[in-house]
Amino acid sequence: MIEITDIEKIYRMGGETLTALNKVSLSIQEGEFTSIMGPSGSGKSTLMNILGLLDRFDSGQYFLNGTDVSSISDTERAHIRNKEIGFVFQSFNLMARMNVLENVMLPLVYGKVPRKERKERAVEALEKVGLGDRLNHLTNEISGGQKQRVAIARAIVNRPSVLMADEPTGNLDSKTTEDIMRIFQDLNDEGTTIVMVTHEPEMAEYTKRTIHFRDGALQKDEYLVPKRLSK
Ligand code: ADP
Ligand code: ADP
Repeated sequence: MIEITDIEKIYRMGGETLTALNKVSLSIQEGEFTSIMGPSGSGKSTLMNILGLLDRFDSGQYFLNGTDVSSISDTERAHIRNKEIGFVFQSFNLMARMNVLENVMLPLVYGKVPRKERKERAVEALEKVGLGDRLNHLTNEISGGQKQRVAIARAIVNRPSVLMADEPTGNLDSKTTEDIMRIFQDLNDEGTTIVMVTHEPEMAEYTKRTIHFRDGALQKDEYLVPKRLSK
C-alpha cells in the first residue's frame, strides 16, 4: 500500500542544506500497525509529512495504493490525501468554536458527502471512540483525552486507507494514553492501517512493527508481538 524508494528530503536555509531523509526505502502493507521511532531530529516527522502527502521530497519514488504520487499536481495530491489519509497530531488541532459533531463532520464537507449521511457517519465514528454522548459539547469543554478521541473520529470518518499519527499521546497522561492505544488497536483489528510516530519506547510496544530512524536513515525494522490492552 505504501511503497517508497530512495526518498531524499533536503531542507535549504540560506546557503545551508540539511539532509533530513537520506535515500529511505520502505514498504508498509495493508493492515499493519507500525511505529516510527527515533531521537528528536532523526527525520520522523519529515517522513510522516511525506507519507501523508503534506510535503514534497527531492528525489526518489512514492507509490500509494499503486498510484505514483511522486510527480502529481498539488490539486491531485490534496485530492488523494483527503481520500486516502487520516491524520492525528499531538496538539489535536480541533476547531474551538465548533462542537464535537461539527469537528468530525468537517472532512465530509470537503468530500461532497450529502448532509444527512455526513451526520450519520460522524456519529458512527464518534461512537467508535466512545464519545457518542458528547456530540454537542464544545471542544474546550472536554478533557485532553476526549479531544484526541474527537481527532481520531475526525481522522477515520472519511474511511481512509491509512491513519497517520504524530506523537498522538505526547500531551496525555499514562491512563489516557492507554485509552488512545486501545482505540488504535481496535481500529487496526478492524483493518485500518496505522503509522504512528513516537519517541517513547513504551508506545512502540503496542504496535506490531517498529521502524527505528537515526540521522535520516532507517536503522532497524522489527516485527514483535504487541502488548495487548484488554477492553
Ligand atoms: P523528528 O521528527 O525525528 O524530530 P524532523 O523530521 O522534525 O525530525 O527533522 C529532521 C531534521 O530536519 C532536523 O534536523 C530538523 O531540524 C530538520 N527540519 C525539519 N523540518 C525543517 C524545516 N521545515 N526546515 C528546515 N529544517 C527542518
Ligand atoms: P516534531 O515534534 O514533530 O519533531 P519539531 O518541533 O521538530 O516537531 O518541528 C515542528 C515544526 O517545525 C515542523 O513543522 C518542522 O518541519 C519544523 N522545523 C523543525 N526543525 C526546523 C528547522 N531547523 N528549521 C525550520 N523549521 C523546522
